[in-house]
Amino acid sequence: MKTKENLWKLSPSGLYGYTECQSCFWADNHFRKAPMLPLLLNSAMDSILKNRFDKYRADGAFPPEMLELEKMDIKPFGEIEKLNDWRENSSALRIVDEKVGYVLSGKIDDVLVEADGRLIPADYKSSGNAPAEDKQKYYADQLAAYGLMFSKNGYPVSDRAYLLHYFVKDKNDGAIDVTFDSHLDLVPIDLGAIEQKLVDMVAVLNGPYPGINEDCDKCTYYAGRSEAITK
Ligand SMILES: [Zn+2]
Repeated sequence: MKTKENLWKLSPSGLYGYTECQSCFWADNHFRKAPMLPLLLNSAMDSILKNRFDKYRADGAFPPEMLELEKMDIKPFGEIEKLNDWRENSSALRIVDEKVGYVLSGKIDDVLVEADGRLIPADYKSSGNAPAEDKQKYYADQLAAYGLMFSKNGYPVSDRAYLLHYFVKDKNDGAIDVTFDSHLDLVPIDLGAIEQKLVDMVAVLNGPYPGINEDCDKCTYYAGRSEAITK
């Protein structure tokens, strides 16, 4: 969708779609996504993880399952009020590029810090399953976009970001106090590359509908459905 200033309203988590399918990315941005039920279990898990990381953050540490980060000399971002603003207020890190024609805004889950002070964007990912090997490639643009937002807001930014995965350890275990396993995924980020990709994304959005992508399940589903309904 566009802002009243006629700029495309983009968010880091919405960039995922461009890599998946440019036709769906075009349609989702021109018409709003189809309504869906809120993912309440995922939001609850996000809150749990924020509280968990904050509990250790107060001591400049990470939860024990994330000790690997401390070994790499990475620290949690310590300014909790600022972090909470970035977490709750989607326009806190907003950037506007009038020349290209977009506004990029969105909330971030967490921020880590390199020994030299550069910021490392981080996103919690909770799931019923362990992350697939290639899972991180789908989130690279999201994490790089957070990096770009930090950079344009005057913060030094690292060339890496992290996905903090938490997933159900044993689905066959009938215990109600579910145990989670965790996994840390490194995602290299390139701010110059994401800035160029945003230019490409806006060019796609400014162009005509790219046509039904035969390789995309969502495109073929909607095409088949509208054909059946209008028959
Ligand atoms: Zn599609």
